[in-house]
Amino acid sequence: MSDVEWTRIRYDTPADGVARVTLARPETANAQDYLMLSELNQAFDVASKDDSVRVIVLAADGKHFSSGHDLRANNRMEDLETIGTQCHFDAEGAEGYMAREAEMYVGLCWRWRNIAKPTIAQVQGKVIAGGLMLVWPMDLIVCSEDATFSDPVVAFGVNGHEYFTHPYEVGARLAKDMLFTGRAITATEALQHGMVSRVVPRDELESAAVELAAHIAKRPMFGLTLAKQSVNNTLDAMGMYTAIQSAFGLHHVGHSHNRIRFGGLVDPSGIDVIRSEA
Ligand code: ZN
Repeated sequence: MSDVEWTRIRYDTPADGVARVTLARPETANAQDYLMLSELNQAFDVASKDDSVRVIVLAADGKHFSSGHDLRANNRMEDLETIGTQCHFDAEGAEGYMAREAEMYVGLCWRWRNIAKPTIAQVQGKVIAGGLMLVWPMDLIVCSEDATFSDPVVAFGVNGHEYFTHPYEVGARLAKDMLFTGRAITATEALQHGMVSRVVPRDELESAAVELAAHIAKRPMFGLTLAKQSVNNTLDAMGMYTAIQSAFGLHHVGHSHNRIRFGGLVDPSGIDVIRSEA
């Protein structure tokens, strides 16, 4: 158990060899501010450094796993413990904002994707845009039948959320479908395309995730680490990291364009488009 005081997450150990980190902001559908992402990173570190933990589950309180970034309440970078080498977070123009997103979104997600222990996302309800950034870096995804996954931010004049692994997660054809239309794919569709590992009834979700984690935790740590790294190395050989960085650059072309055209990071008409289709 951790004795660290967190405000956005909870940490517990529901089974032998299993740590669980839970997003605990259900009143905002677990919208992510920088503080939540920073606390999540700290909790993953606690689990990573605890030799008794072999598998990490990422769960979420409430009806929905995550509604994405909380754009209303982003915290001051100087109050956070950063993990990368980015700086000049308050610089004008693209310089500061690109550094923030490189640190808080792409940097953290890539770090979590490479945790040397198996990770499992336990997902219910809606996962929207930045919500996918928490689900996709995990190794396995167990979701309930009501889970849906969408990235509608093309309506805001950008390419998608910042951890751009869409083609790796659902294949190129469905990635374009999701992005162009903004539609949510269902749990069944996600299973058919290999984006999730298991689909279970909502009332069995927690036990299914913990049982899967406990099952995996019986295996030797080093074997698990070697297997995980071997699969990740395969994805890297397919250009995953370079593709993410390339899409991130285009993402910031989008933000910069919107700043010039509309005076903000996104095209403001996007919200009406998304709401009209919700
Ligand atoms: Zn962005």
